[in-house]
Amino acid sequence: MSGENPGNGLHEVCSSKQGYVHSIETAGTVDGPGIRFVLFLNGCPLRCKYCHNPDTWQMKRGTLRHAGEILEEISTYRDFLIRAKGGVTISGGEPLMQPAFLETIFKGCKEMGLHTALDTSGHLHHLSPDSLFESVDLVLLDIKSGNDRTFRRVTQKPLQPTLDFAKRMQAMQIPMWVRFVLVPGLTDDEDNIRDVAKIINGIEPLARVEILPFHQLAAYKYENLGLKYDLKDTPQATPRDVVMAWRIFSEEGVHSVRT
Ligand code: SF4
Repeated sequence: MSGENPGNGLHEVCSSKQGYVHSIETAGTVDGPGIRFVLFLNGCPLRCKYCHNPDTWQMKRGTLRHAGEILEEISTYRDFLIRAKGGVTISGGEPLMQPAFLETIFKGCKEMGLHTALDTSGHLHHLSPDSLFESVDLVLLDIKSGNDRTFRRVTQKPLQPTLDFAKRMQAMQIPMWVRFVLVPGLTDDEDNIRDVAKIINGIEPLARVEILPFHQLAAYKYENLGLKYDLKDTPQATPRDVVMAWRIFSEEGVHSVRT
């Protein structure tokens, strides 16, 4: 924990026209299908021990940008994104910290005929109206842990909002692409992996499942920000660790793509 207030900035920005942006990736290949324009927003209420983007935690560390300006930038990539069977992904931080801004961008994308994806833990979904999610084609749902005890250890927050969010997306029939980060000594015990699988088994519509191995590439960011990094001595997850986790998933009936 950094000592910063995780909720800092929440409720302060509710403009549909402006939002705090961390960065933009114009040809992302991992955050959704095809090639993606990925917009990373600032602000996050969680403090995942393995977070690779601690520089997104504080909303006001981002750059205040106009939605119209962002949509204009997206429009220059529109034809390319459609040809590449991709679209626009909004990630973070936690994008649901800026719901009005998020909804404006997603609506603008849909007006351009672009596929949209929201990368979220779902934690703040109660602050967002259904109208926001009506412009979302795919949710990339980060499940940090399968049980509340480990979830709190990883994020300092409870698991329940993520489960509630998954149910809400199910009621709206929005496909979910689930991601689980495998961290040695933190999320990789067998019981936790089985619990994650059990949650995934209850998710519908399920588009895809990914296990992401923990790596140490973000360690320097904590150092640069002067933040304590609890996982500095944690080993990276090996391909063998990932295979073992997939074996447990598969015993529970979870596969990367639903068959
Ligand atoms: S939800 Fe994402 S951005 Fe927020 S702390 Fe966790 S990993 Fe980092």
